[in-house]
Amino acid sequence: MSHPPRRNAKLSDATLTTVAGRNPETNFGIVNPPVYHASTILYPNAADFEARRGKYSYGRRATPTIDALEEAICAMEGGYGTRLTPSGLAAISTALLSFAKSGDHVLMADTVYQPTRHFCDSVLKRLGIDVEYYDPLLGADVAGLFRPNTSVIFTESPGSQTFEMQDIPAISAVAKAASILTMIDNTWASPLFFKPFSHGVDISIQAATKYIVGHSDVMMGSITTNEACWKTLFDGHGAMGQAAGPNDIYLALRGIRTLDVRLQRHMASGLEIAEWLSQRPEVTKVLHPARPDHPGHDIWKRDFLGASGLFSVILAPCGKPALHAFLDSLTLFGLGYSWGGYESLVIPFDAASSRTATSWREDGPALRFHIGLEDPADLIADLAKGFAAMQDAS
Ligand SMILES: *Cc1c(COP(=O)(O)O)cnc(C)c1O
Repeated sequence: MSHPPRRNAKLSDATLTTVAGRNPETNFGIVNPPVYHASTILYPNAADFEARRGKYSYGRRATPTIDALEEAICAMEGGYGTRLTPSGLAAISTALLSFAKSGDHVLMADTVYQPTRHFCDSVLKRLGIDVEYYDPLLGADVAGLFRPNTSVIFTESPGSQTFEMQDIPAISAVAKAASILTMIDNTWASPLFFKPFSHGVDISIQAATKYIVGHSDVMMGSITTNEACWKTLFDGHGAMGQAAGPNDIYLALRGIRTLDVRLQRHMASGLEIAEWLSQRPEVTKVLHPARPDHPGHDIWKRDFLGASGLFSVILAPCGKPALHAFLDSLTLFGLGYSWGGYESLVIPFDAASSRTATSWREDGPALRFHIGLEDPADLIADLAKGFAAMQDAS
């Protein structure tokens, strides 16, 4: 259907997570929506077929299961309409391909998620779209990079892995004045801790794989737009044949019901562990926007409603054997990509290799932590064990 479903305005986020997208009255009173597995959807007669009458026409386009998750995410992001994709990266590529055309100039934050960058440097460039990376800290000064053919400015705040905070209201204001669309990858904050449409953003993307799903078992993405962008996004998403699977959608819906309580715990434990890490002699810098020592802290405090459990640290320079000894001795922190699940994770990263508009100058190794739902005391004990192993290997 081309019109977004009803929205639950004016409820607090904690309440929204429990009610958004649920319609038990249309489903025998059953609390959760059914999982509709559908390709063909039958018409009752030839006249209805000919007139394409009916709420649902084909499984790729919409089912009550798809509607439920789209409605829930849309209500939490505060947008007009939402479409789902089978991964977060598919949401990014679908949004960009729906709005940028050959000959356009697209501005991308230099600190975007690395696969977003790869998509731009491969597919967008091949289509004749001029992609320019910009310093995420430019704020309103990014207007100096606008050209007559600039169609989209893409933001991600905080920046992937390195946590630079972007001044989204300032960027979206200058973009709007120049008729340029502002997109945000809003995955770090989830729809609960940053409300993109209240800050002038036109299109918000979630890697729902992360906090919305929350259990490390499903790939899912969403694209939410304001009213002005809805028809173009709806058409682009449909034309590209994007469709997420019903079982995965159901798991994402289940994840959403606990999003608020999980995020509160991720935030509290993340801050506690970031503070503990900041006191360690092995750590030279903690990159966490909710800490007062972070350069983007004022922006975070002004615009955000909370902090998730993802942050990075820079270690004092050490050899690879010491770093590997640290990582290998951890038992509660898994070593792997993605984040947003109930379990803690850590990965080493090299930010210098994926920047062109800015430079990354840190001497020591960088680690990105995702703090899960474990007892922070156990996590701290695990990290202490890691630092002891690091010492032994030095
Ligand atoms: C993981 C991630 C994505 C991509 O999501 P997938 O579901 O893994 O495709 C996009 N943006 C950010 C910030 C992410 O962390």
